[in-house]
Amino acid sequence: MNQPRQPGSAVELRDVSFDYEETRMRFDLRIEAGAITTIMGPSGSGKSTLLNLIAGFETPQSGRVLIGTEDMTDMPPSARPVSMVFQENNLFAHLTVAQNVGLGRSPALRLSESDRLAVTEALTRTGLAGKEGRLPRELSGGERQRVALARALVRNRPVLLLDEPFASLGPALREDMVDLVAALHAEHGMTVVFVTHQPEDARRIAGNMVFLDNGTIAATGNTAEFFGKDGPPAFRNYIGLEA
Ligand code: ADP
Ligand code: MG
Repeated sequence: MNQPRQPGSAVELRDVSFDYEETRMRFDLRIEAGAITTIMGPSGSGKSTLLNLIAGFETPQSGRVLIGTEDMTDMPPSARPVSMVFQENNLFAHLTVAQNVGLGRSPALRLSESDRLAVTEALTRTGLAGKEGRLPRELSGGERQRVALARALVRNRPVLLLDEPFASLGPALREDMVDLVAALHAEHGMTVVFVTHQPEDARRIAGNMVFLDNGTIAATGNTAEFFGKDGPPAFRNYIGLEA
C-alpha cells in the first residue's frame, strides 16, 4: 500500500530580491531535483525567508521562483507543489494526532478511504502507530515533530521544505529524525530542502549544501566538499573549523 513514488522537482530562484525595511536579500539558486539540499547560515541570514519564498508565504520584489518548469512566482502557497514543516509544529491542540495529519489531505477533514490509508501509512512510517487518538499535549516534543512531518508527508508533494524542524530536540532524537528524513527521501524521491543550524545534522544527512550569509548565497557544494579541508572558508569559520 505504498503511495506512488513522487519524483522531486527542481526549484529555482532566479535573481530573486526580497527586502524588509532593514534587510536586503538576494537569492540566485538552483536546487537539484530529487536531492537533499541542506541550508545552513547564521541566524538572520535569510534561511526561513528562502523557504518562505519557495512555499509562497513571501513573494519576491523582483525575480522569479520556478518549481519544475513552472513559474510559481505569483501562485498562492496552496497552488504550489510543496509542503513545509516549521520549527514550531503548529499542531491543533484540540485535534487528535490522526486528525492533525488528516488536515494535510483535507482542510475540512473530509477524508476518503484513500486519504485514511495515506494517514495510517504516514503515521506508521513516522513511528506514531498506536498514538492516533492522542492530543498534541499528550505527546513528547519529538513525537509532535513526527506528527508535523507526517502531516507534510500525506500531502505527497514533490518538494518538502524543512525549516529547522528538529531544533528543539536533543542530539539523540535529532539523529533519529534526520535518519527518518533520509529514509523517507530514499523511498519517495522528493526534493528535500533542509534548514538546520547543526553541522552534525548536515553531515549525517549528506547531499548538496548551501551556505547563506547576510541575505546572500555565500557558497554551494556538497557535504564532502563543505566539510573537507578545502571547504568554503566562510562556512568553516561559521562552524568553528580553522579556515
Ligand atoms: P534565518 O531564518 O536565517 O534566521 P530569516 O529569514 O528569518 O533568517 O530573516 C532574515 C532577515 O530578515 C533577518 O535580518 C530578519 O531580522 C529579517 N526579517 C525576518 N522576518 C522579518 C519581518 N517579518 N519583518 C522585518 N524583518 C524581518
Ligand atoms: Mg529561520
